[in-house]
Amino acid sequence: MASVHEQQPEAEILNPATGAVLQHLPMAGAAEVDEAVRRARAAQPEWAKMPLRERAGVLFRLAALIEERVDELALLETRNVGKPLGDARGEVGMAAETFRYYAGAVDKHFGESIPVDGGIDITFREPLGVVGVIVPWNFPFAITAWNVAPALAAGNAVVVKPSELTPLTALELPALAAQAGLPDGVLQVVVGTGAVAGARLVEHEHLAKIAFTGSTAVGKGIMAAAAPTLKRLTLELGGKAANIVFADADIQAAATSAVPAAYGNSGQDCCSRARILVQRGVLEEFTEAFTKALGDWTVGDPEDLATDMGPLVSEQHRARVAAFLDDTPEPIYRGTVPDGDGFWFPPTVLALPTPDARVAREEVFGPVVAVIPFDDEADAVTIANDSPYGLSGSIWTVDGSRALRMARAVQAGGLSVNSNSSVRVSTPFGGVKQSGIGRELGMHALDAYTDVKNVFISTTS
Ligand code: NAD
Repeated sequence: MASVHEQQPEAEILNPATGAVLQHLPMAGAAEVDEAVRRARAAQPEWAKMPLRERAGVLFRLAALIEERVDELALLETRNVGKPLGDARGEVGMAAETFRYYAGAVDKHFGESIPVDGGIDITFREPLGVVGVIVPWNFPFAITAWNVAPALAAGNAVVVKPSELTPLTALELPALAAQAGLPDGVLQVVVGTGAVAGARLVEHEHLAKIAFTGSTAVGKGIMAAAAPTLKRLTLELGGKAANIVFADADIQAAATSAVPAAYGNSGQDCCSRARILVQRGVLEEFTEAFTKALGDWTVGDPEDLATDMGPLVSEQHRARVAAFLDDTPEPIYRGTVPDGDGFWFPPTVLALPTPDARVAREEVFGPVVAVIPFDDEADAVTIANDSPYGLSGSIWTVDGSRALRMARAVQAGGLSVNSNSSVRVSTPFGGVKQSGIGRELGMHALDAYTDVKNVFISTTS
């Protein structure tokens, strides 16, 4: 691990679809992180005092500016992450929607009045101060917005550290925010490695909170490193979502929907439905419909709007995904990928008789899906919950009672019934077990960007 005092090297920012270098970027060291925190700290009190209507106005204008530049930002995201342009447009649009939602929430998150003896008791929701936001490479702009928007709405200043692989869209945000009227210093973006810039943010004594989205392994290290300064933490970590298909479900709908749910973003999605549990009686019917639908899935140039799936993010990640197939049975389906450079990996389906294989238990984070049979409801719950993760999942059945029983029994922060959707701006998102701590999005995120202050006022004198 590099010392935080060393001069940090430049990083090559690549296009995963071609392997071409898009830019060279200097990586921030501890001094740059410290300077960003100092500036954010100096700017935060004025931001927190700004009249609510003005604070909301800045965020509304930022949403509109992002929307105006959706095509340009999406193309940048596509080139840096390798994700299909249509997906990138959707994600940039969601980022704008997130700023708009929290602009509207500025005056809708408030304290309480609590009945007490001898006086009046009220609570205030107060901003934390300066928060650090550490972002992964899979949904860079959207996840930046998910955290920056509620943090700013609550009156905090923010230092963002994007992934060193995919920083380009986050780097556009401060200029857009300034154009929207955000005071200088309130939002900073620092590009650096996790080991140096990320670690410095986590240990910084003047940061009140870290909102981290990334792998469970790094999240555990962040929790330990945040202990000496007792930082507040939101941890959005890995997942191994189960997509549970009962025999009474609309099998065609479940199979068709399972393709984007598993292979969207090349499977590099914490909510990827990478374990498909299918009731034994419909295993053959489902598998046939699923692989047929996957056959229509277009893998290719992510800048082509007809493309469904692009490459993986890096050569290193491709090697990691490939290694999962070293000790599995032959796939029952393997798609094709374009010739040439780029970090391509074919959509792959494995039929596994039992749920024990490493590929069915660990987060692959690539386009590899395990189809696993189950016998009955109890068996499905046992398999689904036999995982250290608990982020999301799906239940397909037309039996409403069973849907509700399953929704209560499956351990996850979020589930969908007869759908594979995971995320909405207005609803809470996050994990149980080793998928994380805390909730993002919806009004719940504002709880995580504020502290409660209780004030008692005596009325007896
Ligand atoms: P990662 O954990 O390797 O890195 C995430 C971020 O943390 C990057 O910005 C990285 O530079 C930084 N980082 C790395 N080491 C650090 C350290 N010691 N101190 C501080 N920061 C450090 O994750 P990744 O490979 O970028 O993303 C993939 C992972 O993210 C997957 O496990 C995926 O499930 C998870 N993820 C979770 C969610 C969610 O909401 N639960 C969403 C997206 C991705």
